[in-house]
This record gives sequence, structure tokens and C-alpha cells, in this order.
Amino acid sequence: MNDKPKKAPAAGEYGIETLAIHAGASPEPVTGARNTPIYQTTSYVFEDVEHAADLFNLQTFGFIYSRLTNPTVAVLEERMAALEGGRAAVCAASGHAAQFLAFFTLLEPGDEFISSINLYGGSITQFGHSFKRLGWTCHFVDPTDPENFQKALTPRCKAIFIEVLANPGGIVLDVEPIAAIAREAGIPLIVDNTMATPYLCRPMEWGADLVIHSTTKFLSGHGTSMGGALIESGRFDWARDGKFPTMTEPDPAYHGLTFFETFGDFGFTMKARTVALRDFGPAMSPANAFYTITGIESLPVRMERHVANAGIVAEFLDAHPFVAWVSYAGLKNSPYHALAKKYLPRGAGSVFTFGLKGGYEAGIRLVESVNLFSHLANVGDTRSLILHPASTTHRQLTDEQRQAAGAGPDVIRLSIGLETADDLLADLDQALG
Ligand SMILES: *Cc1c(COP(=O)(O)O)cnc(C)c1O
Repeated sequence: MNDKPKKAPAAGEYGIETLAIHAGASPEPVTGARNTPIYQTTSYVFEDVEHAADLFNLQTFGFIYSRLTNPTVAVLEERMAALEGGRAAVCAASGHAAQFLAFFTLLEPGDEFISSINLYGGSITQFGHSFKRLGWTCHFVDPTDPENFQKALTPRCKAIFIEVLANPGGIVLDVEPIAAIAREAGIPLIVDNTMATPYLCRPMEWGADLVIHSTTKFLSGHGTSMGGALIESGRFDWARDGKFPTMTEPDPAYHGLTFFETFGDFGFTMKARTVALRDFGPAMSPANAFYTITGIESLPVRMERHVANAGIVAEFLDAHPFVAWVSYAGLKNSPYHALAKKYLPRGAGSVFTFGLKGGYEAGIRLVESVNLFSHLANVGDTRSLILHPASTTHRQLTDEQRQAAGAGPDVIRLSIGLETADDLLADLDQALG
């Protein structure tokens, strides 16, 4: 968004490890500070009245007020766009806020969208209950047969939403045919890529038009900072069928400016920022952007260890007498192993579920007996985490929704961290016994 003294590395030219460290960032021009400073400021001085007018009219890029743009957050936005191979990104206070920005920019009251039922529990609640109050209807479908998306299409469907690697079921979706259905219908495919991260999967390479992240998880990576990101590929034609008036018709709040015509391949991001973020206000704080930028620098090496440890723990559980089943796409016996090899060649992540022969009671006993694992509702921390979804995150859902989301009474979810693998095995062994 601002003039940089030296061009920061962008996608295409460099490998993902390099982008994770350098994309979007260059030394601060006044002091030479090598790390991105936390620009802890709400507002920015205008050069003169004309500059201010141009900024407010979106005729020039720059900083006005940190609800809209902030230099620390802007570095993270550029880095997220580069990592996902997208054109532009806007950050938000949380993953859920990023989802809200995306749908507010896409939908009118009365509009509909289709979503995989295999989602983060909070997303099912957001889509099924709170979005309904805004006049948006979500049709949930079983994503394991891509045809189900085709069958659920209606004239007012404006998007398809999926998680490629779904939490908590350990499910991997076949993205390509789902992307083809969205393309044919003239609607964007939105992928929540939180569980895979751009290190394991880049959904835009498989046809996604928008990618959403909860940066709270593996990206910030240390369980310190809430955040979200919405990235656009820049390849979606918003004008094709006249389905997206918010993008193609003049906006009265900006003197009749038309976002797609004016900003083209980053028009969606501009609209999400200058309307949804401006008017609803879920901005990411500069401090959280700083922690997330710092976290991302080690994302590739962390993900390698997360995946390696997850494989060791999954195999241990798979052979354990008190364990009924393990649902990890990294295991050869998983029905999703072939899809994981295709879409997640570097590994199937480090969040997976397993079932206890002892059911609900055994689940409660296990989460209360572990020492090294933390019993809490998060994933993607350096620490290993354990959760009994039926009694916590998926509590608000009906029995049917819980089963469909892979969160039945016997299910335990693990998020495997970066500790010594043998220590994790020993802790689980004593707690299971
Ligand atoms: C955590 C999470 C979200 C929600 O993100 P918040 O940052 O908690 O708002 C959405 N999708 C997935 C897959 C998640 O894990």
C-alpha cells in the first residue's frame, strides 16, 4: 500500500521458505530497522487537503486510519497473498471476521451459498444461525461426493465454501471437481485453508478463487495471537453473469465508484476492506500482525515437524489396544490417503481424531489424565493439544450435526505440537492406560 524503498520479494520469483520470511517486508526506510515495526498508531498525517481528498475517494493508496489499513498489517497482507499465490489480501481480527468480510462482500439479503458440512464447528454455527439472521441461507452438503454441490445449486447460490483438510474429521476433499462445478455455475470457490496452511496446500492452484485463514492457528503458530485473512486470486470474473452487483454496480458510498471496473483483479479485496471492514470494524491489531508475521517466518520448518510428529503419534494410536480407530489422512489405511497424496504432498497436517473403545466416559477420562498435552480448544500451537469435541467445541450442535462433522461421543481430537515425539507417546500411553 505504501512506497517501499526496495521491492520486497513477491510470489513466483522465490520458494515458499523465502517468501515466508521476506514477502511484503523490507527494512524500515527511516531507521533501517530490519524487522517490521509495530506501527502502534490509529491514524496518519495527510500531506495536504488534496492528498486527504484523494485518499478518501480511493484515488490514491495510503494510510488514513488503522481500522482500514495499517503498515504492520499491510506487510502481513502482502505476505499472505504471496504465500497463497493470490493477488491481494485483507486481514481481520479473527478467522470468523475474515469469513464475515468475504460473505458480506459477496451476498445480498436473500442470497444463498453451499458449504461442506465438514467444517470447523464455529463455522457451522456462524453459517447456519447468525448468517441466517442477515438473510443469507447456507445449504450444507456431504462433500465426499462432489456431485452433492452440483445438486444443491440454486439460482441464488453465490458461492461454494469448503475446507480441503477438514477439522475435526481428518477428511481431505477432492477440490478439482468441486472447483469445476463452481466455475461452471459462475460462482467463486472459497477455501478455508487454516488446517493445511499454504505450506501444505495452495488451494488457488486447484481452482479456488478466495482463500480464508484463521491466522490464529499454525500461521501465528505459538498460540499467542488471534487473526484472520481473506485472499483473492484475482482471476474471478465478477461481471460474467451479473450475479455480483456489489462488485459491478456503482457504490453510492463512494460517489458511484464501481469496484470491479476500477480495481480489477484486486477489486474484491478493495471492496471487502473499504466497505465491510470500514463499516463493521473487525480490524487486526498491529501487535497481532507483528506476532503473526514473526510466526510465519518459521512456518515451513514448523509444519515439517508438526507433520512428522503427527505421523508418529497416529501410528502409535492405530496400534493401541484401547483405540478403536484413527482418522488421519497421513495413514495408509485412511480412505483419504490418496487424496492427501494429491492435494497435500508434504503431509496431511497435524490435527486428527481418533475413537476410544470406551466412548464418552473414556474421552473425559483421557483429557483429564494427560500431563504434556493441554486440554483446550485450539489447534496449531507449538504445544500438543487435546480436546473432546462432543463435550466442548461441538457441544452446541445437534447429535446429527456432530456425527456429520466427525465429532461423535467417542472422538478425541489432537493437535500435535513440536515436542519430542517419544514424550508425547509416553504421555498418551499413561493416560490411556
Ligand atoms: C479456528 C478456525 C476458524 C475460526 O477462526 P478464529 O480465528 O477462531 O475466528 C475457522 N476455520 C478453521 C478451520 C479454524 O480452525
